Amino acid sequence: MSPQINLVTEINKEYDIVIAGAGPVGCVIAERLASECDYKVLIVDKRAHIAGNCFDTHHESGVLIHRYGPHYFRTNKQELIDYLSKFTEWVPGNYIVKSSVGGELYPFPINLLTLRQFFKKPEMTSEEAADLLASLRLDIAEPANSEEFVLSRVGKEMYESFYLGYTLKQWAIHPRDLAPSVCGRIPVRLNTDSRYVDHQFQLTPAAGFSTMFGNMISHPNIDVLLNTDFGNIKIEVNPTIATVYTGPVDEYFDFNLGKLPWRSLEFEFKEKPVEVFQECVQINYPNEHDYTRSVEIKHVTGQQHPHTVISYEFPCAEGDPYYPIPMEENANLYERYKLLADAETEKNNVYFCGRLAEYKYFNTDEVIERALNTFNLIRKRYEHK
Ligand SMILES: Cc1cc2nc3c(=O)[nH]c(=O)nc-3n(C[C@H](O)[C@H](O)[C@H](O)COP(=O)(O)OP(=O)(O)OC[C@H]3O[C@@H](n4cnc5c(N)ncnc54)[C@H](O)[C@@H]3O)c2cc1C
Repeated sequence: MSPQINLVTEINKEYDIVIAGAGPVGCVIAERLASECDYKVLIVDKRAHIAGNCFDTHHESGVLIHRYGPHYFRTNKQELIDYLSKFTEWVPGNYIVKSSVGGELYPFPINLLTLRQFFKKPEMTSEEAADLLASLRLDIAEPANSEEFVLSRVGKEMYESFYLGYTLKQWAIHPRDLAPSVCGRIPVRLNTDSRYVDHQFQLTPAAGFSTMFGNMISHPNIDVLLNTDFGNIKIEVNPTIATVYTGPVDEYFDFNLGKLPWRSLEFEFKEKPVEVFQECVQINYPNEHDYTRSVEIKHVTGQQHPHTVISYEFPCAEGDPYYPIPMEENANLYERYKLLADAETEKNNVYFCGRLAEYKYFNTDEVIERALNTFNLIRKRYEHK
């Protein structure tokens, strides 16, 4: 399957649906509305490519890279795999992450192997590890922030070795000022399972994410206009049914309640003249370097190539919006924008969906589910029109 996208360079016909953003949300909603409702859809994206932050492409060396950070697709939902399998074949996800601490590489998230290595007890059993953690944990019944959360799970020494420096680099905010959920997403295991995530399905599109999303929107009812900011064409296009907006919600409303803050990243890609450079796809550096992690995506894509490419991630304040900053005042500001967005849906048939439009970090499986829900809302509301 190779994508046959209808790329257009101008708007010269009428559409039922206009979608701002060709990321996972835009592609899924476009495909569903085109296939199930026979609507004529236009997708507009300001970037030069589709697939949003899941975009993968060939580096000048020929190595397939994930342009906006590594994407480890995982889900517990069979129906999601069934849906996406219409557009891709899969290779098994090989999501192994290690953390570099004191010159050694440790399995991460923390599991029994990490504990054995860190505490130099190679024979430690799960029961002994549970007792050890119980003796290290700080007694904090209801952690109020990320620091308290981690201290109450693994104690001070591991908090300082594995979490503190990484979190400071990633957010430029101390863990004590971040919601418990920021570090709470990372499990601690008492078995030897060294996979990065626990999900039932850990799969990567065999020909890449861009191909999968490209196949999804290769449909005679879907046109795609790239390199175009929705803000510049929104008065020109007048869809007969609805608009789907997947860009930043504050931008849609001209920032009239203030700007929602985001954390950004810079990526540095370095070609190495060897087949494999590091021992697993991702190495975290909580305590060394300015970058947080080095990623060799070949471990996941399974591509055969004599060279490899490593990407280094440098968190920064300015740049593309990647991570909403998880602080209460930002959540409150978003809630005020959400009221405006809900009114806009009711009054002007504009639907807000996705990471930027809902100011929330979602994994790809989660946004695809939200996109399917939004598709259902649109279908129900307009099915008799
Ligand atoms: C560094 C990083 C690592 C990640 N790793 C994983 C992972 O391992 N596993 C996982 O499942 N998920 C991961 N994700 C999350 C994943 O990228 C998102 O869930 C997914 O891309 C969100 O889809 P979306 O369509 O909502 O937004 P996006 O992918 O951001 O797409 C939105 C699109 O809208 C376009 N757009 C925005 N504003 C406008 C405008 N005004 N006009 C026109 N176009 C506009 C943008 O150019 C973009 O193409 C990661 C995200 C990041 C940032």
